[in-house]
Amino acid sequence: MKFDFLNKDSTFELPIGQHVLFRAQDQTGAWVSRVYSPLTKLHQKSHFEIIVKRYEKGAFSTYLTDMKPGDYVSCRTCFGRVTLL
Ligand SMILES: Cc1cc2nc3c(=O)[nH]c(=O)nc-3n(C[C@H](O)[C@H](O)[C@H](O)COP(=O)(O)OP(=O)(O)OC[C@H]3O[C@@H](n4cnc5c(N)ncnc54)[C@H](O)[C@@H]3O)c2cc1C
Repeated sequence: MKFDFLNKDSTFELPIGQHVLFRAQDQTGAWVSRVYSPLTKLHQKSHFEIIVKRYEKGAFSTYLTDMKPGDYVSCRTCFGRVTLL
């Protein structure tokens, strides 16, 4: 899945070994968050990509893989203890 940054001039600055944390509200309004490992090279402009395995009863993988082009999701970067030097 490909996610555009809100600011098209932003660049992807997450080293290999670090993860992004996505979060969204479920139907009850509760916040659900999960981490994913981007495949994107350093300094890539305007977007990043992840591969998501869909679990049919999975709370977040179904949410992500049901998203349509133009939908928004909140995410934060830099989670992980390992950085490839
Ligand atoms: C560092 C890190 C990096 C990751 N990177 C990726 C990545 O790049 N791509 C990726 O696809 N995933 C990645 N993951 C996994 C991801 O974070 C999620 O755990 C995954 O998407 C499943 O989340 P979910 O909310 O869909 O499933 P969940 O709702 O958490 O459920 C997971 C599984 O348990 C089952 N389950 C849920 N509730 C129950 C229950 N009550 N009883 C029985 N079974 C149940 C679901 O059917 C499903 O099969 C990563 C995880 C970590 C820790």
